[in-house]
Parts: sequence; structure tokens; C-alpha cells
Amino acid sequence: MIRVSAGTANVLGLKKLTTDAPPTTAYLMSGEKCSHDCAFCPQARNSTGRSDLLARVTWPDYDENTVVSEIGRSFACNRLKRTCLQVVNRQDSLDKAKNFLTKLKQNTSVPVCVSCNLSTPEEAGELFALGADRVGLALDAACERVYQKVKAGSFTKHLQLIEETARLYPGRISTHLIAGLGETEEEMVAIMAYMVSLGVTIGLFAFTPVKGTRLENGQPPDIASYRRIQLAQYLLANKLVDRKDIKFHGGKIIEFGLPRKQLAAVAKTGKPFQTSGCPDCNRPYYNEKPGGVIYNYPRPLTPEEIDAVLRELGFTAGDAACSGD
Ligand code: SF4
Repeated sequence: MIRVSAGTANVLGLKKLTTDAPPTTAYLMSGEKCSHDCAFCPQARNSTGRSDLLARVTWPDYDENTVVSEIGRSFACNRLKRTCLQVVNRQDSLDKAKNFLTKLKQNTSVPVCVSCNLSTPEEAGELFALGADRVGLALDAACERVYQKVKAGSFTKHLQLIEETARLYPGRISTHLIAGLGETEEEMVAIMAYMVSLGVTIGLFAFTPVKGTRLENGQPPDIASYRRIQLAQYLLANKLVDRKDIKFHGGKIIEFGLPRKQLAAVAKTGKPFQTSGCPDCNRPYYNEKPGGVIYNYPRPLTPEEIDAVLRELGFTAGDAACSGD
């Protein structure tokens, strides 16, 4: 059996769900109850949350062979463009990932990103040899201080594994960063710039409190702050600015390193506010309830949504009536 996100199960025809944003990646999770104890995660060792949750998404169980054949069918008719396999951290997670990956690649050529418990860059090589297109190594926390608060183990060691793996497999590593765990915007920009310099793709998340986790009473990030981080991430990832161009006051971004009208033109595309990460990964409603504040848009923004984002970023009508038109 393998867990499949509810939205994925809907695309695969395994479950009926009404949604305005179907996933473009099949999200799969193998195993449950992680050996780690991250404060934000319902799969954490000491979480009392539902074992069928990851972020705020439910993950019903399905037969592996059925899932593999339905992914093949959905990929062939372009309903899905990627598969993301996350294996919950246990001693056997690499073997589990390899077994499922082998089965999947025997049946379909869908690009696959695999995230599991790796100890060495060579283990990532084993996944690439079996057909993984990308490997995910989630850092989650932006800095040592936050890492110690919400995760266990060594930030430095984890960062070193990402560095070494990214050097060995350039352009093929993704990471996750969660905004709203207590880091400053300056700390988030520093780690994002570093990941970009390593060629690591960033999947940016907004912290979401989930019942049963240590941080169940925490608050999601302020939306204006999250928009600034998204904009900075987009500018850095697309090499439109350098880290040194971005200015801060009290840890908060006050300048992005582009003239205001040019910055408004980038924001007006809406692209910085769409889900970031591996190609074709849109993670619908991972961080948000349908109808609530949308942190990561799983599709292009409507003109009204772009106006709202510009207001959240403090652009005036004069800034917005800019070169983008
Ligand atoms: S960015 Fe998306 S596809 Fe890549 S590892 Fe993260 S969730 Fe999976």
C-alpha cells in the first residue's frame, strides 16, 4: 500500500473530490511515523496528530500497483507531469524508495522526485541510477537557531549533505524551506541565496499549524512578510538580483535591489507567488484552506489576485500602472 494525497487520488480517478486546482504532480507518501521529531509535522515521532496527514493534506492508502498504473495512464494523457515520492524517515526508507521507484519506472517515464532519509551523496546517486529525475533534501528551517527549535540533529551536517550532493549532481537537487518558524526575513533570504548559489531548487512553504503537532498553536506567517520572501526568492532564483542588493531593517526586507517600477512589473506577472519547487509541482492547498488566504498559488493568478498581492506588498496604484502594461 502507498499513501496518495487526496488531490492526487482525485486526478488518478481513485477518489471523487471537487477542486478548482488539481495537482500537476502526483504526491505519494510511503510509511508513517517518522524517526525524526519535527515540531511542525504530523508524521513526527511524538506527534499525536492524524497519521494520514502531511502538512494540512490527507493521504488515503491505495494499492501500490493500482497507483503505479494510474500514474502511467495520467502521465500519458498529460493530466500529470511529475511524481513526488516522499518516504517517511525510518531505517529502511532508502530501500522503500528504491523499490517503489523501480516499480514506477518499469511502468512509466514520468519524471520522479524522491525525498527520503539519505546519509551520503552516493545514496542520491543510487536513486538517480534507478531513474529518479531529482532528489529532495528538505532543510525546512532557515538557520541554525530555528533548526534547533523545531528539528533535531545538526543543521550544519544537514547543510553539508545538501552542499555535497548538489555539487555532485548539479541542478538535480531540491530543498524545502518553511517560512514562519521564527526566522527573520534576512535569515530566509540568506539561506535562499545560498541554495540558489548551489543550484538547489527551493520549494517554499508557509508554516501551517496542524493539530497534534508541537506547533499546533503557532501562527502562519504574516501574509505581507510571506509575499516579500516569495518575491525575493523569485528574484534570486531568476538571477534578477544578488543577495547583497537586498536591504533589511530589523531583519525585514525594505529594498529588493530593483527600481520600484521594475519591481512592480515583476510582481505584476504573478509568477513569484505561484508555488515554487521542482518543475510542475503546484502542491494545491498544502498551506491553505480553499477560500482562505492563499500563500502559494497552484495556478496563474487572476488580475484581481494580482491586485491583492500588490497591495499586500505595499505597491501604490502609481507603482502598479507601470511598464508591465
Ligand atoms: S518541490 Fe514539489 S515535487 Fe519537489 S520535492 Fe518538494 S513537494 Fe516534491
